[in-house]
Order: sequence, then C-alpha cells, then structure tokens
Amino acid sequence: MARSAARHPYPWPGVIEAYRSYLPVSAKTPIVTLLEGNTPLIRSRVLSRRVGASAEVYLKYEGMNPTGSFKDRGMTLAISKAVEEKSAAVLCASTGNTSASASAYAARAGLRSIVLIPSGAIALGKLSQALIHGARIASVEANFDACLALVKSLAQMHPITIVNSINPYRIEGQKTCAFEICDALGRAPDIHITPVGNAGNITAQWRGYREYRANGKTRTLPTMLGFQAEGAAPLVKGKIIANPKTIATAIKIGNPASWQGAISASEESHGFIRAVSDREILDAYRLLAAEDGVFVEPASAASVAGLLKLAHAGYFKSAAARRRSRLVIVCIVTGHGLKDPERAIKSIRVPKPLPPSLSAISKAVGLH
Ligand SMILES: *Cc1c(COP(=O)(O)O)cnc(C)c1O
Repeated sequence: MARSAARHPYPWPGVIEAYRSYLPVSAKTPIVTLLEGNTPLIRSRVLSRRVGASAEVYLKYEGMNPTGSFKDRGMTLAISKAVEEKSAAVLCASTGNTSASASAYAARAGLRSIVLIPSGAIALGKLSQALIHGARIASVEANFDACLALVKSLAQMHPITIVNSINPYRIEGQKTCAFEICDALGRAPDIHITPVGNAGNITAQWRGYREYRANGKTRTLPTMLGFQAEGAAPLVKGKIIANPKTIATAIKIGNPASWQGAISASEESHGFIRAVSDREILDAYRLLAAEDGVFVEPASAASVAGLLKLAHAGYFKSAAARRRSRLVIVCIVTGHGLKDPERAIKSIRVPKPLPPSLSAISKAVGLH
C-alpha cells in the first residue's frame, strides 16, 4: 500500500476544528482551544536500533501540547462543553497534569477551576501551572483515588462540572491522538504502546483507531499494549491496589476509572497490559533524553520501558515473522520532562561550582 499522509489543515486550528466530524460538537458549541494537538511523531533512532531489523519505532511526543501533556486533547472538549452547558466552575482530582490542563483551559474560558491534589505527590512543574493559572487548590492528605471519590461527592452537592476522564468528553477529545498518528503515517501502526494510569487514554486511543477504520481512513487496527508501574498495576494484578507506589506520579493510581475500557482495548486488539519497574522506567527515561534528545516525564517512559522489555524477550521479532513484514510501532510519550525537574536533577550528578579557570573547566568537561 502506498503511504500517503493526510494533509493537515493549516494553520493548525486545534483538535476540535481539525476533527470536528468525529466529535460531539455543534455550531452552538463555543470552542475553547489553545491549539492543542498536531504533536510531533518522531522516528526514534535509539529504539529502532534496539528493536532491530524487525521494526521501525516512532514516538508520539504528547509533551508538546500547550500545557505539556496529552490531557489538553480532552480538556479542550470538556471545557468547551462546560461553557456550552453554562457551567460556572470545573472540578477535578489530579496527579498533576489534569489540574494543569483544566486550570489553563478554564482560565481561557473565564471559568473557575477547583482542583484536589494528593498532598506531596505531584511534581513541582504541574503544581506551579495550576497555581499560576489561578485554580483554587485543595491539597488533600489522601491518594489520587480518594481525591477522585471526594470530587464525585462535591459534584453531587454543587452545580459544577467534573473534568476528570469520567467526563465522557475527555475520552472523546483524546481519540484525536490516534487520528493524528494515522494521518502522519498514512496508515494505522501495527503496535501501539502507551502508559496506563486511570486508563482513559488507552480507552480513547482504541476508540479513535476503530472510528478511523470504520470511516475508511485506515484498513487495519493496531495491537494495543499498555504498561503500568509495578507498584501501581491494578489492571495487571486484577485487583484494586489500596496504596499504589511508584516514582511515576502521573500513573500512581490504584483503581482506574476506565478499568473496563482498558481491558476491552487490550483484549479486542489481541494485546495486553503488563507492568514495568521504576528502575526500568528511569532507565528508559534517561535513554530517551540522552540518545534521542526527547525529554519526557517519568510516567511517559513506561511505554518505552515496556517496548525495551518486550524487545529483549524477542516479542517483536516473532510478531514480525508471523506477519512477514517489518512492524510499525508507536510509543506514546504522554508528558514533557520539564514537568518534573526534581526527578531529572535526582537522576544525574549535578556539577559542583568551579573557579573561573580555563584549566579547571577544561578538566571538568573533558576538553584536553
Ligand atoms: C494522565 C497521564 C497518564 C495516564 O493516563 P490515563 O489516561 O490516566 O491512563 C500518563 N502519563 C501522563 C504524563 C499523564 O499526565
């Protein structure tokens, strides 16, 4: 099949205008956008090399969205619909990125935003975003799952809109990631790999691929592979995890809201959901930054850690042999590395101050 990538609208109008016919909007919907989407699909040199001759690996760099994560794809729609429905305020529980996105889009729409965050468990960059966009923030002594339960109770008592991924518009907007991948490749990938936390994203991406095929835009569907962190892997263990633990705070979730969506995506596509350790996540995190020039947050590296683990076990080699063709693999990297600068600084040796002497500097930086 000849690959012919679809032509993007130019200038890029944001995901709602770009994919309007696939989304629940009408002429009456006021579109609140920061021109999210249209993120780079980058061929990974280091991962293609590591996987070997059996595959070509791409990174969908979702950190390039306006607030630095894929959450903006769903948030543009959730906030647009909240304005259409004349909501006065929006509310969410967040491991960080949902609050960053909700507060930015709410600011743009002139809505109040209220966020509940697990205290001490969100990355500094994300907290600073919610603060500067003017969210009312409650830092709660409880984990994400408990914060989400509190949000549901608050929304029953007040006329405010929840913008977590239990809001169906979030999932609808997040489908656009799959559309963009197919448009850029001129086909669907063979394998799609994504980090899984609350599981809204894998649910949305699978729906997106199916809708594109149903509309004749693509002829095939990818195998969907999801990766959770070992200490926060309820979908792998088949039970709720009361005290999830991982350094990857964006996927530190013990009771995913879209549990069934994730199971359906993996089963219907003949894929699976598995776990990677924090060490594997951090190794992938450093590898991407050092050898591909792509800086992501730790949770985002779970997809890449999963890819490397499967490559090591020969999974892609046998999959390519079965299909008698080279595989096209897309790893979703969900958020920007600058979200969590503390983790980056912890992961490397920070240089000590030197006197302003050429010899001391040359020695320190390896110029002899
Ligand atoms: C929200 C988030 C995830 C998890 O996505 P789910 O839809 O909850 O599975 C992964 N990575 C980052 C950076 C996120 O912000």
